[in-house]
Formats: sequence, structure tokens, C-alpha cells
Amino acid sequence: MDKPIIIQKYGGSSVANIDRIKAVARRITETKTKNNHLVVVVSALGDTTDELEAMAFQINDTPPDREMDMLMSTGEQISCALLAIAVKALRHEAISFTGMQVGIKTDSAHTKARIVTIRGERISKALSEGKIVIVAGYQGVTEEDDITTLGRGGSDLTAVALAQALKADVCEIYTDVEGIYTTDPRKVKEARKIKTITFDEMLEMASLGAQVMQARSIEVAKRFNIPIHVRSSFSKEEGTMIVKTNEKLEDIAVRGITSNSSEAKITICAVPDKAGVAAKIFTGISKAGVNVDIIVQNVSQTNHTDISFTVPKTDLTKALAAAKKVAHKIQAGEVQQDKDIARVSIVGSGMRSHHGIAAKMFQALAENKINIEMISTSEISISCIIKQNQVDKAVRALHKKFELDKLN
Ligand code: ADP
Ligand code: ASP
Ligand code: MG
Repeated sequence: MDKPIIIQKYGGSSVANIDRIKAVARRITETKTKNNHLVVVVSALGDTTDELEAMAFQINDTPPDREMDMLMSTGEQISCALLAIAVKALRHEAISFTGMQVGIKTDSAHTKARIVTIRGERISKALSEGKIVIVAGYQGVTEEDDITTLGRGGSDLTAVALAQALKADVCEIYTDVEGIYTTDPRKVKEARKIKTITFDEMLEMASLGAQVMQARSIEVAKRFNIPIHVRSSFSKEEGTMIVKTNEKLEDIAVRGITSNSSEAKITICAVPDKAGVAAKIFTGISKAGVNVDIIVQNVSQTNHTDISFTVPKTDLTKALAAAKKVAHKIQAGEVQQDKDIARVSIVGSGMRSHHGIAAKMFQALAENKINIEMISTSEISISCIIKQNQVDKAVRALHKKFELDKLN
């Protein structure tokens, strides 16, 4: 393309009602000049996707995935058409497209499809005609022309994947906060905006619960080294740059705190302590199609041990049934469940070169009488499983302990 290409993605809250759609239309017409090309990706209005999902669940508590994608993808079709209408009302040329129309081909893993290719010819043609292109986020289409969705929050992925396919010069994600903060600014008022964060840190924060960016979109941004500017659709302030590296960050051990209450804990009691038992348990769980996260096996005193692990709450019923079946087979004891747990995590690349971080985290929790039930670590994060009703207190305590409120 002859001119720089700008990608802008507007999230659900940025287009929650007609006034906001008009405001976004004004903003994009201010961005579009004769000397650039503009592609806008848009999410469904406000809570539309949740509402569509809830309707399906009123009919069937295990709705078929293919039909869910047909349903859930409609929200974005509405918003992209309305935005195109709003832009045209401001006397600018615009055209809206669904994922299918712009050739976003995915595999057939309905509700969490992976993008395979993007044939951007229709976008390129519209851009060369001087139009603002508005693409429905979160969706694609299989080889068989079945509509798919890219997992919740998937409009972020549409934006990043289009940035890669079109070799865009700028990729901006507009949301309802001013950027990436040290923790969720809606829960902790002392949270500070971060100027620059690395792909690795953002990926870890997103995977551990910071919903501000979809984790899969950061994976793609990292793979193709696409810098992302996360900023507010309600102000002109600079937001946060997500980039490959930033040497200045080396000194900061902990960049952010996240929490997540989407997991439940299962404990299989009195498991015979002998070779092959863990393999049997986790093969059984995996055959049920459930992903296990943290696993803890206690030290055996009496040739029997307890094994605890976490699974997504949405898979708890399936996982419990599988666990009970295996427990019976291997002559273990009772199978217990606990839904009232949450994960609190600290994230930062500087952890690689700082020591004493784990100790400081556990100290902060202890000072607040928060009991740690499980611990898991990665190279740049430490997570603790605690009681759900203590999670907000834990986030605030860790934010303070690591002095993130003082970060500028
Ligand atoms: P959008 O509709 O624009 O995609 P989301 O609701 O998906 O927006 O993400 C934005 C929200 O993410 C914010 O309103 C904020 O409450 C939440 N959030 C959680 N953790 C963070 C964080 N560390 N920094 C910024 N926002 C965060
Ligand atoms: N509307 C979809 C969702 O709510 C996709 C997105 O907003 O990014 O998950
Ligand atoms: Mg989002």
C-alpha cells in the first residue's frame, strides 16, 4: 500500500449506545486524512454478546457450538453496520464488512477458532478507493463457510491479525480505561497507568486475569512483533505501548497484579502413593476434555496422599465426574470440590533477575491473614490460590507491598 495503514479497534463499552457510536464515528473521521488508510475493528454494542449467550442458555444448558457461533457473531455485524452508517452521516466514505467478507479463514474449532489465513483483497480495494473500512471483530469462517468466533474478547485478535495481514503501521486498541494499569483500575483506585509493557508481561497478565486485552491477541502481536497502543476512546491521552522489550523496565521486578475467580479446586483424598497413579488421574481428566491448571500433591506419611488440582469452573461438573471414576478405579478416597477459590498473581519480567519476590508476596498475604492453598510459578509470575472472599484484599495488599502505587 502506498500510504500508512492505521488499525483502530473499539471495544464494546466504546460503542455501547448510539451517542457513543456517533462519538467513535467522529473520532475516526478525525483520524482519516488523504494521506493514510484507516481500518476500524469493532466489538458488539455493550453487553450484547453476554445477552445473546444468556438467551441460548435459557433454551439449552449445552447449546451446540456451531449454533452459538452463528448467534454470538451477530452482535458485531450490528455494530459495524451502525458505525458505517454513522461515518457516512458525517459525509465520509465508509464500508462495513463481516469477518467472512474480508476473508478471515479459521479452523473449525467453534467458539475458539484459530485464524488460518486472511485474504485482505476486499479491504485493500476499499482502502484504495479512499474508504474507511469497518470490520466486524471476533469472527471468521471455516473452509466450509461456517461462521466461527475467536474466543471471548476476540475482537482484539481480529485487530492484531489484520495489522499483520495488512502490514499496518499503527495498531490501536480503544477501550474504556486509559491503558494498561498496574492492576484493574476499577477495583483499586491507586492503580497506575503503565507507559510501556512487554509482550511477555502483557501475555502473562492477560492469561492470569487482566481482561483488558485478549491473551491470544498478544501471542500474535508477540510472534510478529506488532507494537500495540492501548488507549481510551473517551480521551485523547496517550495510553500504554505494548512492545517487545524495554531496557528501562529491567529494574522493576513486579509490573502488575491480577486476579481471577474462574477456577475451582478438586481434591482426591487418600490416593495410594505409587508409580502410575498421577498418570491415571490426569489421563482420566484429560479424556473428559478438561484442562487442568495448578496441581499439588502432598507428601505421603502413610502410603496415601491427597492430590489437588484446579480446573475452569465451567468444566467442574465434567471434571468431578471424571475424577470420581478414576478415584474409584485406583481405590482412592473421597473427591472434594471447592468453588470459592480465586487466584491472585504478581507479574514482571524483572523477576528473572530479582530474588526474594516470592517471600515478599507470601509475607504480604500473611500480614493480611490470607491463607495460601496452592502456589504456582512461571519465569515471570507467581500465583497463589486463596479464598475467593479475600481476593480483593489480597490484590490491594500486594499492590501496596510492591509499591506499585508509587510507579510513575
Ligand atoms: P473492551 O470492551 O474495550 O474490550 P474490556 O472490558 O474487555 O473492554 O476490558 C477493559 C476492562 O479491563 C477495564 O474496564 C478494566 O476494568 C479491566 N481491567 C482488568 N485489569 C486491567 C488492567 N491491569 N489495566 C486496565 N484495565 C484492566
Ligand atoms: N463481543 C465479543 C465478546 O464480548 C468480542 C469482543 O468484545 O472482543 O467477547
Ligand atoms: Mg475486550
